[in-house]
Order: sequence, then structure tokens, then C-alpha cells
Amino acid sequence: MKRIVILGAGESGAGAAVLAKVKGFETFVSDMSAIKDKYKSLLDSHAIAWEEGHHTEELILNADEVIKSPGIPNEAPIVLKLKEQGTPIISEIEFAGRYTDAKMICITGSNGKTTTTSLIYHIFKSANLNVGLAGNIGKSLALQVAEDHHDYYIIELSSFQLDNMYNFRANIAVLMNITPDHLDRYNHCMQNYVDAKFRITQNQTPEDAFIFWNDDPIIKHELAKHGLKAHLYPFAAVKEEGAIAYVEDHEVKITEPLAFNMEQEELALTGQHNLYNSLAAGISANLAGITNENIRKALSDFKGVEHRLEKVARVRGIDFINDSKATNVNSCWYALQSMTTKTVLIIGGKDKGNDYTEIEDLVREKCSALVYLGLHNEKLHEFFDRFGLPVADVNTGMQDAVEAAYKLAKKGETVLLSPCCASFDLFTSYEDRGEQFKKYVTEL
Ligand code: ADP
Repeated sequence: MKRIVILGAGESGAGAAVLAKVKGFETFVSDMSAIKDKYKSLLDSHAIAWEEGHHTEELILNADEVIKSPGIPNEAPIVLKLKEQGTPIISEIEFAGRYTDAKMICITGSNGKTTTTSLIYHIFKSANLNVGLAGNIGKSLALQVAEDHHDYYIIELSSFQLDNMYNFRANIAVLMNITPDHLDRYNHCMQNYVDAKFRITQNQTPEDAFIFWNDDPIIKHELAKHGLKAHLYPFAAVKEEGAIAYVEDHEVKITEPLAFNMEQEELALTGQHNLYNSLAAGISANLAGITNENIRKALSDFKGVEHRLEKVARVRGIDFINDSKATNVNSCWYALQSMTTKTVLIIGGKDKGNDYTEIEDLVREKCSALVYLGLHNEKLHEFFDRFGLPVADVNTGMQDAVEAAYKLAKKGETVLLSPCCASFDLFTSYEDRGEQFKKYVTEL
């Protein structure tokens, strides 16, 4: 019997283990950290052997194939050993893709993945299609393939998931944009990250679709290099050469494969970045044959996703917006760009090699004050202090940051949490950071 070892027992690892077991493989799960109780029960209920807190080499190096969770770096010692001895290492999505013939709609990009994925799922679900949501959100693809039957999967793919995909084929691939992110995991080499993102198009055939932002300089450059086989569906903010979807005369228009239009102001999601997300989602739905009426309705009644430009409350005339998911500089750029009032920006956290030049102009134009929230705020001082804005330095936690921002903000202004950074210095996750923000805002 072929032996499959799964490294990492989070949502994707536990799901991959269940699928491997159901498909008759000898299955073993190993996690360096503690495994959550719910995943232990899932593994136990399928009689799958597991270990936590360490990797036992004898039980791992004898694998015929290894499924690696995206959170485990390629440089982890056990991964290096497996590579050295030539053991194939794949991702959970690659593995699950072998056991389903559902249509795969895959979304990647530096920003906008979760929003676009959720929006596409919402449109498909509203049109009563038999659809599953997978990847970085919801239940793992592998578990759904093991337990349910779906005709479509809408899958959010991070660059880490794409790293270990080889034969997987996306029927519809969506690439929102490429800006620097996670460079610490790509040897600080942008091209490595770009290559990972472009893996979403590998194995695509002329029957498949590639949807992308027409104005992204990196995508443009790569397209010229790659000579893709898939049919191309570029979108843009305005009508321009090449774009098949855009806004013209306040109307959102999609010209291929079927003509679609709706008033821009009816879109549920606002801001330039969300226009891109709506266009990409609209094209995907159009390709799946969903009626214009259903697409229009779903694009206009979508509720948005938590921690992404989420309106929290208005306190004494000051609006509070939670954009905790803005973990890189580019997403903060879009958040600032969509602000319609002067803004007190809460920024900072675990820096991933950020270059703040990108938001310099917008900070000067839109911000009335800054709150630095992080254990180490030196880099923020170095870059932003010269702008001459009032600054509060907070290295204790969210409560102090919210109070500082509240003091700095004037009536009619907005307090925006859009940190440009990962959250792991003071919080357990971006969700934790966003939830604490909302809690302390409601306590003001
Ligand atoms: P991801 O899943 O790629 O991290 P999200 O949909 O969670 O993206 O959005 C994260 C943040 O990125 C949002 O809070 C918003 O500020 C910004 N954002 C969303 N969509 C886009 C886009 N298409 N282009 C640039 N920034 C975006």
C-alpha cells in the first residue's frame, strides 16, 4: 500500500489526511506544533495515525508522497531532507484535484483573493449551483472531495499553495494583481514570488479561461514571456485596449463571452479595488453561464467580508473602519484611496520588508494623524515622522491604539485600521487584531 505522510494538521492537512485514508492509502500525519482538538477528533474518527510537537523522521522519510501544509516553509529541515531523497512533495489542493472532476475556479493575487473568492461563491450559490468554497477559506478542498459532491469549486490560492502544485488544472484562473508580499519566504526575490503566482495558469488549455487585471505591469510582462494557452479575459477600470470588462458611462460592462451590463452604483462593494474584484467575479459567473439577472442581483446584495474595509461604528461623528486584513502596503494603498474623509490611520505590526513609498502621497493627502501600533515602530518613525502629522506611538495593544486614535480624530473624520503589516507581534492573527479593534471601538 502506498504511504502518504501529511505535514501539518490544520484545516488543509487534516482534510488531506481524511481524503488519503478514504482513498485507501496508508496515512500518517505529523505536526511540529500542537494539533487543535477538532482536527484530532477528525483524524481519530477516521482511524488516522498522528503525532504532534515533533516530527519522527523514521515515520516520515519512508513516505511515497508527502502533502505539505502551505504554512510550512520550504526550508524546514524535514522538508529539505525529503527533497534531498527525492520524495515528491505536493499541496493539499494538488492531491484533492486528482479525485474530482468538478470545474475548478481558482483565485490568486497579492490582494483581493478572499473578497473575490467569496463574491464568486456568493454569485454561484445565489444562482443555485452546486458549489463548494475552498482553499484559504472555509472547509478544505480535500475534505469536501472526500465527503461531498460539488459541480464547482471556488478556491482561494495563496502563493504558498501554488508552490506545490504541478498537474492541477484550473478551468477558470483569476489573477487579481501582483505586488510585493511574503518576500521573506521567497529569498527576497520578487521573481520567485511572481513565478509562484503564475503557476495558477499552468496546465490550462484553450478551453480554459485566464482572468486578470489588464493594467498590472508585472502580469503584462509575464504574459509576454509565458505565451499562455488559455483564453484571456483582461479587466480594467475604464475601457481600454485589450480589456473585455470595464466601466463606461457609469455602467459596468462585460463584453465576453456574453454581453453583460449593470449600473456601477448598484455594486455592493465600493472603492476602486472592489470594482476590480466585482469585475473578476462577474466574468467568472458569466463564463459559467449564470444569467445576467442573477449576476446583477448577487453583485448588488453581497454583504462583504469581515476585516476588509469593514464598517464598525460611528462614535460621536467619527467613523471606525476595520481593515485588519491589509497586511501589506498595497492593500493599505487601496484602503486609503477609498477614504472620503480625513483619516487617522492605525498602521504597524510585523514588518515583512515593507517599502512605504507606495503610500507616501496618499498619507500626505488623506491622513490627519497616525497611530503606530507595533512592538517595534522605529521604521514607521523613520519614514512617516517627517510628514509633520500628529503621531501616537503605541506598543502595548489595541485598546491604547483605539483610544489614541479616538483622541486624535476630529468629528467627521475616519479612523482606519489598515496596518500594512502582519499581526504576529501583538496579536495571534489578523482576525484577532480586527476583533480587538471592534471590541474596543464599541466600548468607547
Ligand atoms: P487577500 O485575500 O488577497 O489578502 P482580501 O480580499 O482579504 O485579499 O483583501 C485584503 C485587503 O486588500 C482589503 O482589506 C483591501 O484593503 C485590499 N484589497 C482588496 N481587494 C483588492 C484589490 N483588488 N486590489 C488591491 N487591494 C485590494
